[in-house]
Amino acid sequence: MSSESGIRTFRGIDGLWKEYSPELLSSITGLRSDPAVVWDWYRTRLMASEGVVPHAGYIALTRFMKKRGSLPVITQNVDGLHRISGQIDVLELHGSMRTASCLEKCGYSTELTKTLVINIPPLCPGCGAVLRPDIVLFGEPLPQDIVSRSYRLAEECDLMLVVGTSVQVWPAAGIPFAALDSGATVIEINPVRTELPRNENVLSIRRKAGEILPLLTGAEEDNI
Ligand code: ZN
Repeated sequence: MSSESGIRTFRGIDGLWKEYSPELLSSITGLRSDPAVVWDWYRTRLMASEGVVPHAGYIALTRFMKKRGSLPVITQNVDGLHRISGQIDVLELHGSMRTASCLEKCGYSTELTKTLVINIPPLCPGCGAVLRPDIVLFGEPLPQDIVSRSYRLAEECDLMLVVGTSVQVWPAAGIPFAALDSGATVIEINPVRTELPRNENVLSIRRKAGEILPLLTGAEEDNI
């Protein structure tokens, strides 16, 4: 989803991890040992996401969800675009770049804005420790409550849309498989082939999310 809005992904053909070392720039040990370097990287990412807006696929999904009260979204993206586009029930498996909090967990939390990163590393006004972006860093566990609810939703659903994920990063990669194992149908939207199986329960559409989601979610209105 993010890449079509202009945000670079990590593992795609053009992935950021082909240029940068995740061990240093996105790890809890890197943040502790060299916070200015790590924050410089996050400041660059923050600036790069300035002006990025949700594409037509996000808007279509939001409209579709609102008609049904609420439908949950499970995402590995940290850019917050699902929430920005008005989606409410968003399970952010890897956290969010939109907020920052105290590395030493004194309870301080704030919006992650350009102003916050004028001087890096930003410091906690409560206790003076370094702040951290509220994303899951390498070396940290994923939020267990969100992972558990994601798997529960997968096991209970009849239909899952799997949009744009490489289906490579566990435990997120297991979520569509949990849905399939529970008898659900999976509609996959991805321009490239993924690890999902080819069988009668998987419909793979090799196109971009921004093109397909408006068509797919408008199907009911048009009675197609
Ligand atoms: Zn603090």
